[in-house]
Amino acid sequence: MGVWRQLRWRIVAAQMLVVLAGVVTLIVTAEALAARAVAPELLPAFEAAVVKALVVAALAAAVVGLGTSIVLVREILRPLRQLAASSRRIASGHYGERIAVPISDELRDVAQSFNQMAESLAQIEQQRVTLIGNVAHELRTPLAGLEGYLEGLLDGVLPNDPETISAMQHEVRRLRRLVDDLQHLSRVEAGQIILQPEVFDIVPLAQRIVSQLRPQLIEQCLQVAVAAPGEPLLVRADPDRTAQVLVNLVGNAIRYTPEDGCITIRIRGDASHAQIAIEDTGIGIPPEALPYLFERFYRVDPSRSRASGGSGIGLTIARHLAWAMGGDITAASPGIGQGSTFTLILPRAEPV
Ligand code: ADP
Repeated sequence: MGVWRQLRWRIVAAQMLVVLAGVVTLIVTAEALAARAVAPELLPAFEAAVVKALVVAALAAAVVGLGTSIVLVREILRPLRQLAASSRRIASGHYGERIAVPISDELRDVAQSFNQMAESLAQIEQQRVTLIGNVAHELRTPLAGLEGYLEGLLDGVLPNDPETISAMQHEVRRLRRLVDDLQHLSRVEAGQIILQPEVFDIVPLAQRIVSQLRPQLIEQCLQVAVAAPGEPLLVRADPDRTAQVLVNLVGNAIRYTPEDGCITIRIRGDASHAQIAIEDTGIGIPPEALPYLFERFYRVDPSRSRASGGSGIGLTIARHLAWAMGGDITAASPGIGQGSTFTLILPRAEPV
C-alpha cells in the first residue's frame, strides 16, 4: 500500500503501536494480578477503575505520540524535501544552490556532504568556463596576427615576399602547437594516454636529451651531474614520456635563462625514487607564483612567455604524465633573478 511507503505514516504508526502495546500489556497484567490479589466482590469495581484509567492513559499517550510524530516527521522530512529540491536545481545548472544545515547530527552530516558536493561541482563548472575563456584568448593572438598580415597583403601595405609569408607561417605554427597541446592536455587529463612502462637507466636518457638540446644553446652551459657516477639508476616508467617531460623542463630552463646562465641536470636516488632536478640560474620565479605554475595556461609573465611561443600548458601536461607514471614534478625557486629548480620524481625499479 502506498501510504506505508511514506515515512510520515510509518513514524505515526510506530508511535501508535507503542501506545497499543502499552495498553494491551496493562490489560493483561492487570487482569492477571487482579484475579490473584483482589477479593472477588471488589473485582468489578477494580476492573471498571482500571478500564477508566486505561482509556485516559491511552488517549493521553496517543495525543503525545501523535504530537511527537508530527515534530519528528517535520524534522526529518523538511530537510529531505529541501535536499531533493536542491538536487534538482543543481541538476538544472544552478551550482550556487546550498541547503540549510539541520540540528540533528545525522541530517547535518548529510547536508554538509551535499553542500560540499555542490561546492565541488561549482568549482568544476568555474574551471570549465575559465578553460573556454582561456582557449578563446589563446587562439585570438595568433589569429589576430594572421588577420593583420592578410589585410596588409590585400591592401598592398605588406609586400608579398618570403618574409611576410614566413611571418604568417610562424603564426600558423603557433596555432598548430596550441591545438596539439590542447589535444594532448585533454588526453592526459582524461587518463587516455597509454603508457608503456619499462625498467631503464635514467642517466643515459638525460645525457641523450642534453646532447639533443645543446645545439639550441648559444652561450648557455648545459651539464649533467650524477650523484653516484658510473652506477645505473634504474627507474620504472615510460621512457618516451619521461623524455618528453625532461625535454619540456630543460626547454623551459633554456628559455628562461639568459645566455650567460647555466643549466644543470642533477640526478640522484633515494630509497624508493629517482630525482632528476633541472637547476637553472635564470630569471627565477616569485614565491607567490609557485603554487600556480602547474595550472593550465598559467604564466608568471604572460607577455614574456607568449612572445616566446609558450602557451602555459607545458607544465600541466608534464605533471600529469609524471603522475600517470607514479611520480611527480615539484618546482622551487629562491625568488626573481635567482634561478629555479624543477624536479622530476620517478619510482625506482628496485627500491633499495
Ligand atoms: P610556457 O609554455 O609558457 O613555458 P609552461 O607550462 O611550460 O608554459 O610554464 C608555465 C610558466 O612557468 C611559464 O610561463 C613561466 O612563467 C614559468 N616557468 C617555467 N619554467 C621556468 C623556469 N625554468 N624558470 C622560470 N620560470 C619558469
